[in-house]
Amino acid sequence: MKIVVTGGKGGTGKSTITVGLAYELSQRKKVLLVDTDVDCPNDHLILSIRRKKISDVFQFIPDFNYDKCIKCGKCAEVCKQHSIIFVKDKYPAFIPDTCNGCKACLVVCPTGAIREGKKKIGSVYRGNNFGIELISGELRIGESASGEIVSQTRIIAEESESKIKTDTTIIDSAAGIGCPVIASITGSDYAIAVTEPSPSALNDLKRVLRVLEHFRIPYGIVINKHDISKTFCKKIELFAKKNKIPILKKIPYSKEVIQSTINMKPVNVYNEEYNKYFSDILKNLEKQILK
Ligand code: SF4
Ligand code: SF4
Repeated sequence: MKIVVTGGKGGTGKSTITVGLAYELSQRKKVLLVDTDVDCPNDHLILSIRRKKISDVFQFIPDFNYDKCIKCGKCAEVCKQHSIIFVKDKYPAFIPDTCNGCKACLVVCPTGAIREGKKKIGSVYRGNNFGIELISGELRIGESASGEIVSQTRIIAEESESKIKTDTTIIDSAAGIGCPVIASITGSDYAIAVTEPSPSALNDLKRVLRVLEHFRIPYGIVINKHDISKTFCKKIELFAKKNKIPILKKIPYSKEVIQSTINMKPVNVYNEEYNKYFSDILKNLEKQILK
């Protein structure tokens, strides 16, 4: 069983809820938590884990062989990232930082002057604490291929699932609706969309739900910090009712969450009273999955 926690907007408390759920579930099952929020992974911080690197992730970059180059400039013409600078009668110059590895230059080069090179774009780590096994991907600063790191993190996580005999995998997705989010959610059995009562969160929620619809992944909503705006909480509830979307739980705002993060513990370890929220989410989730 693979459950992805997503939500569109950043800052809604997605990671807090993901880690809390993983901890609640780990009390009775073998849980693998996969942090695919590769631009800013922080599940290991909440779990007080010093991660160990298990793999680097590389991406294609062109390796120019100027002996074969006829200075045609076609590689620069097709490069949407403007990573190749071409001046007439000169050899092309390459800016590796902006290259996204699309290989268009490799394909169009008429003389085979471009070979397959590679650059490191990130790493995948592992660790465990509080009974939770963690696989965590991290993009290298300045790189843009988040989706590739997510895909590699998912592949390594899948290898680990069989090794450690995981019952449930919980995936902490990146915020937004772009390539890394799509790489995070694909193949999941159920998605939990975490939102909060604010205009931007509701707008972003609607966008991420459209992505889930597209990939036919069943989903429910958790409204975090539901008491910070009665008006917008009501709007989310009306939206959910109108669209027959289950609300798995409403969680109130609390400074305990911030304190738990500072103390590097899941919120339900820091304060056991939080267990009830996560066990309710799981109960509602089971009903949704089994219905
Ligand atoms: S791989 Fe794509 S982005 Fe990178 S230099 Fe070639 S064309 Fe440009
Ligand atoms: S496409 Fe190939 S031959 Fe043409 S400028 Fe680029 S590297 Fe040189």
